[in-house]
Amino acid sequence: MDSAKVVWMDGEMVPFADANISILSNALHYGTGVFEGIRAYHTPDGPAIFRLPEHSSRLLRSARAYGIPVALTVEEINDVCRQVVAANELESGYIRPLIYYELGSIGLNPASARVRVAVAAWYWGPYLGEEGLANGIRTRISSWRRIHQASFVPTAKGTGQYLNSVLAKQEAIATGYDEAILLNMDGNISEGSGENLFLVRDSIVHTPPVASGILDGITRASVVKLLSDDGVEIRETVLTRGDLYAADELFFTGTAAEVTPVREVDDRPIGAGLPGPITKRAQDLFAQATAGKLAAYRSWLTLV
Ligand code: PMP
Repeated sequence: MDSAKVVWMDGEMVPFADANISILSNALHYGTGVFEGIRAYHTPDGPAIFRLPEHSSRLLRSARAYGIPVALTVEEINDVCRQVVAANELESGYIRPLIYYELGSIGLNPASARVRVAVAAWYWGPYLGEEGLANGIRTRISSWRRIHQASFVPTAKGTGQYLNSVLAKQEAIATGYDEAILLNMDGNISEGSGENLFLVRDSIVHTPPVASGILDGITRASVVKLLSDDGVEIRETVLTRGDLYAADELFFTGTAAEVTPVREVDDRPIGAGLPGPITKRAQDLFAQATAGKLAAYRSWLTLV
């Protein structure tokens, strides 16, 4: 991971080496924070941030879900993200806004702790590797189930809830796979540890509904729009493990992972064991949209 040069912390640009917090921060102990992951892309008009207002809105929705009061508006968060990309002199990269309870209380009621906001940005290449993007990755069904709405808010990006993703990712890597696919508590497919999942069968694209306990991904929504505008039929379908084994194609979407083909589930090759035509079309459309090459989707890009 490349290092950030400067981090925005509560109104100030701080050199990365000095962007530190107290060991007794409430968020460090109990996961009382919310975050976003956003990408900036190189375009002919300079660096541009992909679907920035959608990410800033989701950040504030996540904060509301966990009762964290935030003084900033969507527009103010948008501005900070642009400033941080510029201050780090990035042509492209990854932006990480974080809202968290810092000092003030080490009890489980964080109300008296200070709410702090930080935004970092740095260069981050393909999350599941260049090789994964080109040829697909190997996945397994996790022995861990995706967090349930009875205990967490699965549509929010709360820091503490990501221990569930960490367990699934660690298990996948330790057992020789690239990524995990989690079932929900009903035993249906939810998503990857940090990606949404799509399946292609008989040229129709299926993806689990939000009611399957997924994060309502912004890349997911973008790929649904790109493919359906391109004439591909897309359905939200409750999917089972067996549906994955029988798929013609599978792919993940996510800000970090972009569009990554899945070539294996539980040691079973998917389709021909290579990225299929609809997966490649999704990758191509997504790459063109993020590079500012498709006029119809220019409104998804915010210039820095
Ligand atoms: N699911 C989870 C659990 C995630 O952490 C992410 C990454 N934010 C996604 C799906 C993909 O969402 P997005 O496309 O908005 O990045």
